[in-house]
Amino acid sequence: MGDDDLLAAARAAAADAYAPYSGFAVGAAVRTRSGRIHPGANMENASYGLSLCAEAAALARAVAENDFQVVEIAVVGGKRGEGGTLVPGDPVTPCGRCRQLLKEAADVAGADIRVISANADLSKVLETTVSELLPHAFGPDHLTDG
Ligand SMILES: [Zn+2]
Repeated sequence: MGDDDLLAAARAAAADAYAPYSGFAVGAAVRTRSGRIHPGANMENASYGLSLCAEAAALARAVAENDFQVVEIAVVGGKRGEGGTLVPGDPVTPCGRCRQLLKEAADVAGADIRVISANADLSKVLETTVSELLPHAFGPDHLTDG
């Protein structure tokens, strides 16, 4: 299946997530038009509100690599259980803030972005798009005249 490498990258990133407070580990991986994959993991902070999401980390990594034409993103995660293994739950979908970040990336790429959400063991997968996750979105067009 064509999504296997992207989901595997997101799953691997989730294993490295820094989530000592919530115990909820998330990994994300974006694939760009160049075909490259950029992973990211969530990074929590003792000042909880500063925590960063995996999707934001993956997008920032693509920007840092000067490779910001995002085509699709996979998001994988779950609660850490015994021994650190992630408990399979429901597919992890991007939070509201990340949907807005993905909307910006879609505008930069000039096309909608596929969003593949999965649970920790990839036994449940939800396929959608940024425009479906964030309808009537605010974007760069709102900042231009006329
Ligand atoms: Zn988020």
